[in-house]
Amino acid sequence: MCNARVSLIGLICRHICIVHINCLSIKSFLKDLSDELDDSCGVVVHNKILKHLLWADDLFLVSTYATIMQRQINNLNSYCKKWQLIVNTMKTKIMVFGDIHIQDDFFHLDGNTISITEKYTYVGNEVSDTKNPFCGIYESIIQKCYRSCYKIREYCRQIGQLPPALSVHFFNTLLMPIIEYGSEVWYCPSSVEKLSIFQRNYFRRVLHVRQKTPNNGVYGDLGVLPLEIRLKNNVIKYLHHIHDLPDTSPVKWVYKDLLLLSDAGFSNWVTTAHKLYEEHPLSDKCDIGSFLNLKREAMKRNIKKSSGKHFQSTWLENISDIDKQPKLRTYMKFKSEFKFEPYLNLHNVKLRAAISQFRLSAHHLRIETGRHTRPYTPAEKRLCLKCKENQIQDEEHHLMLCSAFANERKPLMQCAAQYINDFETLTSEEKFIEIMKSENIELLTALGTYLVDSAKCT
Ligand SMILES: [Zn+2]
Repeated sequence: MCNARVSLIGLICRHICIVHINCLSIKSFLKDLSDELDDSCGVVVHNKILKHLLWADDLFLVSTYATIMQRQINNLNSYCKKWQLIVNTMKTKIMVFGDIHIQDDFFHLDGNTISITEKYTYVGNEVSDTKNPFCGIYESIIQKCYRSCYKIREYCRQIGQLPPALSVHFFNTLLMPIIEYGSEVWYCPSSVEKLSIFQRNYFRRVLHVRQKTPNNGVYGDLGVLPLEIRLKNNVIKYLHHIHDLPDTSPVKWVYKDLLLLSDAGFSNWVTTAHKLYEEHPLSDKCDIGSFLNLKREAMKRNIKKSSGKHFQSTWLENISDIDKQPKLRTYMKFKSEFKFEPYLNLHNVKLRAAISQFRLSAHHLRIETGRHTRPYTPAEKRLCLKCKENQIQDEEHHLMLCSAFANERKPLMQCAAQYINDFETLTSEEKFIEIMKSENIELLTALGTYLVDSAKCT
């Protein structure tokens, strides 16, 4: 599988015709196929001629000219007849890479026309005949993910809304394997960005917050890392894997050729992989040469640890930067640890949704809605219209001070006094922070109840 993927990348050049064949046979049975194929055909990889690749019962032929490809197909046909093999012509297709026109009915196998296709799913990944053969892969991945999401919803219909912890677990165990499959080869920033949007939207639905809710708030409350970190790590780990392969491996041949091309200024997979390593936090401690010589287990551990640690410190810097993240100006007061928040374990969906929205500025207080008025309302003029006390309607005012909700607030304050030490002696801001930081389920329930009740009054 890996051989085929890397070879594909190495072989994207002009005038290459490839035939995919799904045979009702096994790889060992096809061992002598190479003898039957013409040695003058194929493509040169690291001074060796590559004519075909085998993965289970999939056969992959490669050639630089259409006439030569047809000759190889004829050779294959003779071989199949000799050993009574059946080729699945329904799944056998030609792909043409490069700016060349070939008639649709040019290729034949035993009298059957083999059609030319623009896209083909080979060992689970969709390849297209464009300059970047994996450019549209995110679409098929997202479709597969949606299908899985619908299935999960169908199976869990009787349970009702899934708890956030379980939804995160489903994402990591059911959707991540779909997203990650083959990512070490197809990685490209634009596809990764589209998949990251899918991940963030999934988590926003888990939190019941709107689409514009800041990413760092979503990651922070669920304690999940952006998937691009894992995808980048996969490329770097695969680079290490290739380096460890014996010199007899075709993947290694392709890698060496790509390395030469990359050094000569032709950007390819190796250029991307090296760039990702240079940008990786691990590269500060370990140059690429030392990294490639690390033992596999140590390499995997170091990559995971350093990328996770680096993201968390950057996350903390970002949420603390009011200019970068103005929507999280209150969030930074009570959130300092990157972890799954205990309020998400509340069974009542309405209460935990109200808390998520309040924490992550996905609410309807004027401090937030004033941001979108035309003309724009400056922060100091986003005054509360409920109490009419000329106070800015921000989170602290709503939770602690607004006289319009004094009755609704009483049970929350009583609960806070019970569970927070010296609560009465604290300033209003300190009380606000302590309530928002609390992990006590009863206090969190009181907080959610207040937010739901006060929303009903607005
Ligand atoms: Zn007010």
